[in-house]
Amino acid sequence: MAINVDAYQQIKKSFGGKQVQLVAVSKTKPIEDIQGYYDMGQRDFGENYVQEFVEKVPALPADIRWHFIGHLQRNKVKQILPHVYLIHGVDSERLLNEIQKEAAKANLKIRVLLQVFIAQEETKFGFDQAELSVVISDLTPWPNVEIMGVMGMSSLTDNLAQVRAEFQHLKHASQQLLAVKNDANIISMGMSSDYTIALEEGSTMIRIGSVLFGARDYSNK
Ligand SMILES: *Cc1c(COP(=O)(O)O)cnc(C)c1O
Repeated sequence: MAINVDAYQQIKKSFGGKQVQLVAVSKTKPIEDIQGYYDMGQRDFGENYVQEFVEKVPALPADIRWHFIGHLQRNKVKQILPHVYLIHGVDSERLLNEIQKEAAKANLKIRVLLQVFIAQEETKFGFDQAELSVVISDLTPWPNVEIMGVMGMSSLTDNLAQVRAEFQHLKHASQQLLAVKNDANIISMGMSSDYTIALEEGSTMIRIGSVLFGARDYSNK
């Protein structure tokens, strides 16, 4: 089993007194490692791949809060809805529409975060400023979707000033959303390499993989 008790405690300590949620990102990692952190009290886990997600859920305790943090294809929405606690990567109106459709059919209310494009890389997903403004101007088309806040990913760069500016951009988007939905207060930002900056910039939810579980091996993906 490869769990890192020191790293876990270190991350928790870095919250200071702040109300921050830690999502342990367990993609590509075995059931035993997840169970190890579960046994230490961790309940929030994040997965990226639908197939892996639906295989892991039944093998682990039922009170785990499963976060879907990857890019979600519309044709896979239905598979994850019964198990997911929070979908982080909602990055288009079409995806919102699909979640609404499937959630209504299953009589569920699904919690989501709106992913905002804050990086300089074209490869990242998310709403830009103009699209975000349009979506949040009227949330009535999605009664079975509960928008809980925003999520973003910074650029992969050593330029920490840039990372900080990108997180500030997300914080700004959060304030825009809060102006129309005052309980949508989650700001999901910060990963292994940049979570301390994210916490300084107002993150309320960090998504940590490799610091907790070790480097990932994608050779089977
Ligand atoms: C994999 C992943 C993480 C965790 O990344 P680490 O750098 O290993 O902490 C966080 N967020 C998203 C969206 C991811 O895909």
